[in-house]
Amino acid sequence: MSHRHWAGALDTMSEAHRPLVALDFDGTLAPFQLDPSKARIPPAGVDALRRLVEVPDLALAVVTGRSLSDLLAVAELPVGTRVVGDHGAQFGYLDDDGPIIQEVNLTSTQRAQLAQLGDALNALVGDGAWVESKPTTVVLHTRPMTSSAAGEAKRDQARAIGHRLGAQVLDGKEMVELAVVHVTKGEAISTLRADHRAGIVLFAGDDVTDESAMRELTRDDIGIKVGDGPSAATVRLAGPADMVVFLGELADRLSV
Ligand SMILES: [Mg+2]
Repeated sequence: MSHRHWAGALDTMSEAHRPLVALDFDGTLAPFQLDPSKARIPPAGVDALRRLVEVPDLALAVVTGRSLSDLLAVAELPVGTRVVGDHGAQFGYLDDDGPIIQEVNLTSTQRAQLAQLGDALNALVGDGAWVESKPTTVVLHTRPMTSSAAGEAKRDQARAIGHRLGAQVLDGKEMVELAVVHVTKGEAISTLRADHRAGIVLFAGDDVTDESAMRELTRDDIGIKVGDGPSAATVRLAGPADMVVFLGELADRLSV
């Protein structure tokens, strides 16, 4: 972690016009859990997000690979947060009266393709590998598998299924996602930026799938990579615990 970079990011954000703060969820805001339903934002992070969403002219967004229903079941997010699920296929907003989630409209061909992909991936379930179904994607998770070679073999099979059935194949940490709608987090950032007429974007993520969003950033924006691995980000934090500290300091600087 470079503290100088972190301080620079805080300085840049405190002078920014109409900032957009967009954050990945798993591995970025919430530490990984073997059971994804147990993932939670640490209390200090929940508090920082509550304070950030109150900052005038700031837009707060959580951009995740989870479906929005899945995200909202675990993420304690304040009213006013924009939420983007399924890597950019699903948009929503947390209103006073509850979440407003835009309908995902699939063609009959896409629905049939999604069902076929689900059937094919379900044949790979076992030894800890499991399948998650989302509105526009199906995912093979291999994180709980004890043998990493066996996990890699299953992920190879999942990729082959995706290519054979014409899906978009996304590689994540110990997971392979097969999507029938071709979207990326980069496109989601681009949409959020335009919607908010943002003068600057801060995006933080930990995974390979977050790099499309990092590449969408300009040199005036701030990209934060959480954890190890190659990244186009300019700032690096060790893990969600540092992310939470950073967000607290950001809220301190921006709160009036
Ligand atoms: Mg993540």
